[in-house]
Amino acid sequence: MGFNVAIDGPAGAGKSTIAKLVAKETGFIYVDTGAMYRALAVHFLNEGLDGNDVSAIEKACEDASVSIKYENGVQKVLLNGKDVSTLIREEKVGNMASKSSCVPKVREKLLELQRNLAKEEDVIMDGRDIGTNSLPNAEVKIYLTASVSTRAKRRFDELTEKCIVCDYNEIYKDIEERDYRDMNRETAPLKQAADAILVDSSDMTIEEVVKEIIKHINDER
Ligand code: C5P
Repeated sequence: MGFNVAIDGPAGAGKSTIAKLVAKETGFIYVDTGAMYRALAVHFLNEGLDGNDVSAIEKACEDASVSIKYENGVQKVLLNGKDVSTLIREEKVGNMASKSSCVPKVREKLLELQRNLAKEEDVIMDGRDIGTNSLPNAEVKIYLTASVSTRAKRRFDELTEKCIVCDYNEIYKDIEERDYRDMNRETAPLKQAADAILVDSSDMTIEEVVKEIIKHINDER
């Protein structure tokens, strides 16, 4: 069994940025479970499905297979053998993933993949239900959050930097909606595990958050 670090938290809390840096420093493998949900979402979009059509999504799960490979330490996600790592970052894919991840069959499909990765390797895995559901025995559990306004501002700045025209209020609303779906779905909702450490990054720098998480890892090793 590898040493497992779970990082959960709402959209835009900085989980992947932080987890990648912690992975680099510790030599652990970074596993981005959101990418897995996004890969399945690409399949549902390719099939022309509505994100709220549960039975169609369940049926479409049958002919989708998601796998992960690492190239120079970077996670690549494959859908039916095809690398979809770039495609999954599109906005429409994120929107579909936010809806389709509520379907229990979708979650079931990805659970085994997540657990197998954690069994074999030292991993730092981020998502919404890693500490509560996927890896309940993880040695370190972090619940990383930030206020909605902080997360919306970070997202706004990120898009503006890439010269993508966007509206702060729309981003704010979108984050609120995603939080609501993640926290209120029936299967594996986003919540802080009883034994998770709460880290609110609203007033912290990236370096401060990384340092704090590494401290908790070193305490348990
Ligand atoms: O983190 P990211 O935005 O890439 O995740 C895409 C979607 O997948 C999220 O909106 C979230 O609803 C879902 N997700 C999930 N459980 C996870 C990881 C992601 O439900 N462990």
